[in-house]
Amino acid sequence: MSSWTLFAWQGIRLKVPADWEMGAADGDARSGHCRLDDAEYARLDIRWQLGRSSSTARSVAEAYIRKAKLNQRDVQLRRDVRLVSVPGMDTEFFLVKGERDSMHMAACCSTCGRVALLRAVYDPEEKFKPVLQEMFASWCDHPVEGRVPWAAYGFRFDMPEAWRLFDHAVRAGRLQFEFRARNRIAHIVRSSLADIWLKKKSLRDWIEADKIIGPGGLKTEYAEKEWLGHPALGWTSRERRSVRRWLLRGRLIRGLAWHCPEANSLVAVRWLGPDSAEQEAGDVVRAVQCHEGSEG
Ligand SMILES: [Zn+2]
Ligand SMILES: [Zn+2]
Repeated sequence: MSSWTLFAWQGIRLKVPADWEMGAADGDARSGHCRLDDAEYARLDIRWQLGRSSSTARSVAEAYIRKAKLNQRDVQLRRDVRLVSVPGMDTEFFLVKGERDSMHMAACCSTCGRVALLRAVYDPEEKFKPVLQEMFASWCDHPVEGRVPWAAYGFRFDMPEAWRLFDHAVRAGRLQFEFRARNRIAHIVRSSLADIWLKKKSLRDWIEADKIIGPGGLKTEYAEKEWLGHPALGWTSRERRSVRRWLLRGRLIRGLAWHCPEANSLVAVRWLGPDSAEQEAGDVVRAVQCHEGSEG
């Protein structure tokens, strides 16, 4: 296995083979589940939740084995497999043999106390041990320096811990994330096949057609820009004042969209919040890595 990528979601992260991609995700930072698939089958299941003070890797493994009925006589289960040591984690590895093997890692974090159960599935014929070792050794389950990384489908950004994922949507060629923190909202969108779109249309057409710009009918000012060496378009508008709070000005909307030829994608960040926090709009933009090696 030569090629790796980072997968990061809701504060958990690890290195995975580059052809594994997220197939399902639910839950939140407290407790959740993700599944990664390759072209043929489900490769990796990840479950995490807040632990108890009494949690250990062993107790996590045992609870899972009971629940998944792996303790029955017809299951070929091997406990306490010596696979790799994971920095900062109490771990137990256990293997279930079958038509396809599955290596499990039960982990209990000594930093944040989260517990996790990872299950990687592979063909017994694959020379898979080095992959399992490198992948599990890279496991981390908590924000570092107050930042939560997000990485999936070749797209990467990080957000301050205070921002919670409110909604996300993945459909052919398009990723959309909505984060919220108190009275602020941030949208991050990545759309692939930029070359096809840009043949006949512009960045501005894209943000208008795809409703990235924000609620319709607002007075909007545009400015052509450059971002990370890419052609970019910035915009500013303001939400309507609500009837109930008509004395207050609506919150500010600031957006930046750009075309990344390296990743053949269109990327946009839209931020909505009070004028006093305006610099955050730029912070969110800077946290997005549109292509490998681009640092904002
Ligand atoms: Zn942790
Ligand atoms: Zn780029």
